[in-house]
Amino acid sequence: MDALQRGCYGRPPMIRVRDMHKSYRTGKLVNEVLRGIDLDVADGEFLSIVGPSGSGKTTLLHAIGGLDSDYTGKVEVDGKDLHDLPDTGLSNYRNRFVGFVFQSFYLLPHLTCMENVVLPALFARGDGVLADDAAHTRAREVLAHVGLEDRARDRPTTLSGGQRQRIAIARALFNRPRLMLCDEPTGNLDTKTGAQIVELFRRLNKDAGITVLIVTHDPRISQATDRTIRVEDGQLFDEPRGGFRREPPEVAPVDEAAPAGKQGAAR
Ligand code: ADP
Ligand code: MG
Repeated sequence: MDALQRGCYGRPPMIRVRDMHKSYRTGKLVNEVLRGIDLDVADGEFLSIVGPSGSGKTTLLHAIGGLDSDYTGKVEVDGKDLHDLPDTGLSNYRNRFVGFVFQSFYLLPHLTCMENVVLPALFARGDGVLADDAAHTRAREVLAHVGLEDRARDRPTTLSGGQRQRIAIARALFNRPRLMLCDEPTGNLDTKTGAQIVELFRRLNKDAGITVLIVTHDPRISQATDRTIRVEDGQLFDEPRGGFRREPPEVAPVDEAAPAGKQGAAR
């Protein structure tokens, strides 16, 4: 735990995970995916979580994002235990505090890019509700932020993969999240486009101060973040930085490219 807390550099953590266990039950089989993990993430960190396929990266991200509450132990974000939030508090947390970005973009193909980006306004309640004009102004702002204001009227199906992911990121930015949770955000993109998306995340982190947590198979993506945690055998490990890393084979799809076993400990 000490090693994982070092990432907070003395600042209060935005995310505190304590003794978190998560199992899936299928009939009589129990698959204990996360086995008592601890993690601190500081406000303003740019962090990646790596690990082999099936190691529990998405499971952990869903717990932190309030998409799954069926675990034991504690997940605290911004000083609040997610288990203690009432349903409305949890949906506010998901809609306002967190911006989600996924591998498959999840854009609605029959809507324009502008309509996709403005979707979070439809789910707003209370002081989050925006008048139509304000919502469209905000949508134009975030489209400009990802460099795609000129595609506002187009449908996502007319865009490249990288452009679609930018639209998804614009939608995630709409409600000014303090935390971006990204699950294999470059998994469907070629290397160069993936690097551009990570650069966009870096800019959002450094310029807008958004805490960015990226779950990825791809060592090239994780190397671009400021800190990397490895999940393996249900436990978290600090991933050494700056040492030797094996590059995945050029032709392998990203999903198959996770290195087997732990990385060398050279710093
Ligand atoms: P990763 O994102 O690292 O590939 P996941 O968190 O998706 O891993 O899955 C971790 C393990 O939990 C895998 O063995 C997977 O099969 C299992 N798992 C994930 N979701 C479910 C589910 N809804 N029901 C049963 N098992 C699941
Ligand atoms: Mg996953």
